Amino acid sequence: MRRKRAEKFEKFVFRAKLTTLTFAVLGAVLSLGAVAARMSPADDGGGIKLPVLMYHAIMSDPGRSGEYVITPDEFRRDLEYIASQGYETVLLSDVVDYVESGAPLPDKPIMITLDDGYYNNYLYAYPALKESGMRAVISVIGVEADRYTDSPDLNEAYAHCSWDVLREMESSGVIELLSHSYDMHHLDGEVMGIARRSGEELAAYRSRLYADLERMQGRFRAELGHAPEGFAYPFGFSTADSRPVIERLGFLATLGVEGRTFVVTRDLSCLENIPRYNRPSGTSARSILETA
Ligand SMILES: [Zn+2]
Repeated sequence: MRRKRAEKFEKFVFRAKLTTLTFAVLGAVLSLGAVAARMSPADDGGGIKLPVLMYHAIMSDPGRSGEYVITPDEFRRDLEYIASQGYETVLLSDVVDYVESGAPLPDKPIMITLDDGYYNNYLYAYPALKESGMRAVISVIGVEADRYTDSPDLNEAYAHCSWDVLREMESSGVIELLSHSYDMHHLDGEVMGIARRSGEELAAYRSRLYADLERMQGRFRAELGHAPEGFAYPFGFSTADSRPVIERLGFLATLGVEGRTFVVTRDLSCLENIPRYNRPSGTSARSILETA
């Protein structure tokens, strides 16, 4: 991802240098760009439909299943259905590349996302994805990754992934990691995701948010050598007040929780608050996608 972005920058610099060449050469480059754009999947002008599924924990004990917990069997059945319908999974970086530069997407793209970075994702989702040749995005809570790095615990009911486990999944190419804040994943009245507190000065709010999200980017850089380009809003809370902070940190895309189909266009604004379908236990990817 990092490398791709550097290459893209080099291409940009290269193109800038082209201005000194003849218009004929420039014209050829531009028409190649137009051909590349036509090769992207069917966008009839209204954008490309790209359903995004949202998972959280995957636990073997069906007694724990619920709104945000499903069993490994349910997850595997979802992947089988997705494959049977001809969908191809994409990462958030693929979507960003399409929006920014027209890099092609598959004919029938879908994105699988898992929030919070539970260790059970590594136990159950990661091997199932690998076997199916699929990929997914995991949004990580920094304080939890640090906690389980410092005090290893592999309990599938509550443990989160250590940075070692996250590094392993990312380096496989199967998983892309996103920020889910360093320590704002709370609903305790004091911290409600990234929501602004009542009576909190705008400047104070923005510096509190910046400090947390920048700390997380720093942890990513220290542990994985790069910072993610996507941020998943904890609990889906997003505010206009947070936008300048999100942009200043360099995030290109944010994930929300509104249950409708994401429509990708070539406009960067489509990457703000990408809608996702939660997948509770007892439903299925089939029932979601048949009506998406
Ligand atoms: Zn979350």
